[in-house]
Amino acid sequence: MATRFASITLSKYGVLIAVQLVVNVSLALWLYNEYLHNPFMQDYLSKAWSAIWLDVTVGTFAIVVVALYLAYRRELPPFTSREKRSGKMSLAVAASASLETIDACPYCDLPLKTVSAGRLQCRNCRRYFKSSLPKVEAIA
Ligand SMILES: [Zn+2]
Repeated sequence: MATRFASITLSKYGVLIAVQLVVNVSLALWLYNEYLHNPFMQDYLSKAWSAIWLDVTVGTFAIVVVALYLAYRRELPPFTSREKRSGKMSLAVAASASLETIDACPYCDLPLKTVSAGRLQCRNCRRYFKSSLPKVEAIA
């Protein structure tokens, strides 16, 4: 179910998140207002913070480090390798594994042109490839 307003499309979860955001901001403002006008709460928070600031700092740092490590392990966006991003590289790697059989560009699937002994070039994307076939004369 999606409700469409002019150019904004709201899903069921989008509405839920917006409502939660409004509720959370209201509660935070109410809590902050209470803190400003309640000396007992100010005293309590200053004591509590002096006791836990180190734990909160170390805990936050540890969470960030673990999140970065997990993102690195799972190759999430900032750590994605170029081969994984393009998706085409695995094809080139598979093609380079059997150089004897390469006679077509793995990217364009077009026949390769021999530019020099052992070197081939795609007529379309201009990529170069090595050939382990017996050396042949370049065709001008
Ligand atoms: Zn090509």
